[in-house]
Amino acid sequence: MDNFTIAVHGGAGTILKEDMTTELELAYFEGLQQALDISYAVLEQGGSAINAVKAALVILEDNMLFNAGRGSVFTKKGVQEMDAAIMNGKDLSAGAVAGIRNVRNPIELATEVMLNSNHVFLSGKGANDFAIKQGIKLEPDEFFFSSFRYDQWKAIRDSDNYSLDHTNHQLEELMRDKKFGTVGAVACDKYGNIAAATSTGGMTNKKYGRIGDSPMIGAGTYANNLTCAISCTGHGEMFIRAVAAYDVSCLMEYKGLSLEAAMNTVVHEKLVAIEGEGGMIGVDAKGNAVLVFNSAGMYRGVRDSKGLNNVAIYK
Ligand code: ASP
Repeated sequence: MDNFTIAVHGGAGTILKEDMTTELELAYFEGLQQALDISYAVLEQGGSAINAVKAALVILEDNMLFNAGRGSVFTKKGVQEMDAAIMNGKDLSAGAVAGIRNVRNPIELATEVMLNSNHVFLSGKGANDFAIKQGIKLEPDEFFFSSFRYDQWKAIRDSDNYSLDHTNHQLEELMRDKKFGTVGAVACDKYGNIAAATSTGGMTNKKYGRIGDSPMIGAGTYANNLTCAISCTGHGEMFIRAVAAYDVSCLMEYKGLSLEAAMNTVVHEKLVAIEGEGGMIGVDAKGNAVLVFNSAGMYRGVRDSKGLNNVAIYK
């Protein structure tokens, strides 16, 4: 097989054209296209799917527009705690980190966990210690700061002083108004190997060390050459409960569904049934790509060796 494919997302949610300026739209398109082009080049030169998804995520994490790496949202305590995961469909190897701070590219740390830790999932201070030991690049708090995220957080931080209900309500409003902003990539390389990666700052005003679906293998991220590579974005709690990414794989493996049918079942039926707003991107080992969401929009893009090259935001 010689064809190859890369797909990326930059989060899903209530993303409406009327809330967007032409400049901002353009900036999102550019960011997504840049991630597509860099990972396309990796695949074109015969690079692996795992290297392609990692390359895409480094670009998206470095882009302030997205809620991952630089530009991550603020926790209740006013800091940024990031989660990321990567999985190789060729051998089911995987690495993930949660609640890490000051790591410039969380996806690099997740990859390091996959390759050099003998573990799959590291969290908090321990994960940060591992980053230091492995020489992963760290940055000061200021590097991650964006006034847009700070204002978002300030808008609901204060409301928390009143009551829990109010907080939940406020948070819901915020999540409805704004998008989620996680980034993800899935790829199929020339050799028919597939991979998935996801990275996020999680949810604004999160507390108690809350972790979403993004770094959880099977929930927000999954890859298996026999079925699919999936990266999710949306209301993480529901994606965890639905074991969303792995469910797509199961529907393909045990029920013989196509990638598209399986993803539609999970996103438009199973997640909708539990009010799980969001979407996912997927590829199979033949290089087919599918991008689906049940929210108003999802920042997304796909490029393949047959000439497809497309970025989009709305339905
Ligand atoms: N799924 C992420 C989380 O719940 C949020 C997102 O997709 O933007 O942490």
